[in-house]
Amino acid sequence: MKIAELVQQIAARKTTAREQVEASIAKTRGIEEYHALLSLTEERALARAGEIDTKIANGEDAGVLAGVPFVVKDNYLAFGAPTTAASKMLEYFNAPLQATVVEKLEAAGAICIGKSNMDAFAHGGSTENSAFGVTHNAVDATKVAGGSSGGSAVVTALDVVPFALGTDTGGSIRQPASFNGVLGFKPTYGLSSRYGVVAMASSTDTMGCFAKSADDVALVTSVMAGRDPRDTTTLPDYFEVQHDAPKNLKIGMIRETMTDDVDADVRAAVNNYADRLRAAGHTVETVAVPSIRHALAIYYIVVPAEISSNLARYDGVRYGRRAEGVKTLAELYGRSRGEGFVTENKRRIMIGSYVLSSGFFDAYYLQAQKARTVLINEFNALFEQYDFLLMPTAPTPAFGIGENANDPVKMYLADVMTVPPSLAGLPALSVPAGASTQGLPIGAQLVGRTKSDAALIALAGSMEARV
Ligand code: GLN
Repeated sequence: MKIAELVQQIAARKTTAREQVEASIAKTRGIEEYHALLSLTEERALARAGEIDTKIANGEDAGVLAGVPFVVKDNYLAFGAPTTAASKMLEYFNAPLQATVVEKLEAAGAICIGKSNMDAFAHGGSTENSAFGVTHNAVDATKVAGGSSGGSAVVTALDVVPFALGTDTGGSIRQPASFNGVLGFKPTYGLSSRYGVVAMASSTDTMGCFAKSADDVALVTSVMAGRDPRDTTTLPDYFEVQHDAPKNLKIGMIRETMTDDVDADVRAAVNNYADRLRAAGHTVETVAVPSIRHALAIYYIVVPAEISSNLARYDGVRYGRRAEGVKTLAELYGRSRGEGFVTENKRRIMIGSYVLSSGFFDAYYLQAQKARTVLINEFNALFEQYDFLLMPTAPTPAFGIGENANDPVKMYLADVMTVPPSLAGLPALSVPAGASTQGLPIGAQLVGRTKSDAALIALAGSMEARV
């Protein structure tokens, strides 16, 4: 059932918000072995469900998402349970406020029932970097869930909730969506507020959702979107759900993402999606984005640089973990950070500090920002001729748990398709596009020009109707 239908049924009192919340919570108890959730916000959720049911009984407008349960990734500040970012640093951190997008969803009547597992501080692509254990893939429990928003992808795929929130800095919504067979949307940078979400890389962090249909993605995005005075990088309001199926589009399939290095099943699924686009009356042509081969290198300079700066606030003094029994300030910093961060967090802080240091700034950080501009220009040039771009979401289907865990570079390579739109701030949507010969889900990634979010989602929706 689509979210809009569920809202109608609740409004018509065929079911209640309370029944929906109770059903979702009961489902979480049946999937504990996936380790997709870090906490439940049960008490608060039931209280809110009661309020919404009362509003509906009194004939008041309870909002466009009234009574719909959802899950948030545990880096969103939200009430009802600690906000840990899956780290020991924030293990006992109770948020003093809620993220803007959580507030907006609540104002529209949606009810948060729990907080999902993730790579600590969102650093990773498998949810193996969580300080609290690994999340298992919804389709094959021996495989990773993807990441860093793995838990949110899995609860959506397992039908625990109709939608879940993730954050996407370099693929953390799209890649787990592709690994678990659901839709995952990374909006244009600045469409939704970053306020109240644990910062990773401020120039590419975006807030988006997982859902099971394009209509659901559109509805949830319409609530999350919008200018927020507390996040000055948010854009003036522009998102409006597009109901008509787009016609006669020109779509570019990026050559550099369809080479022999890419898993054959993934290429077949994306080619098949291209054929379906053609059958729907669109034109699909191969295009080149030469700098895309540098995107991963650019990303793993720029993003750690921003991480090292954003994570400096966790010093054991202001909030978060504070080491016991230390004698000096340096020891307090060192021990608190040593205990609070996982290995991948530390690796990124070190890379970031290195590329920003006076001796290496010009050689790495500045050079990476220049290369990023070249990449952005190549995308912009293509969008003068093409409406959308198509490529795989990830070079492979979900890999095995433990398979890449000890090799950071191999792990980073899984991000090769998702980081280019992130660096350019473009909206990108991963849609289910078939399965591998082993039965693992494969995602195709549709990318649009800045602010084309609604049309991008509408295109994906028009293709669902044709399955
Ligand atoms: N896997 C990517 C990384 O590790 C993306 C992370 C993200 O989007 N939060 O940086």
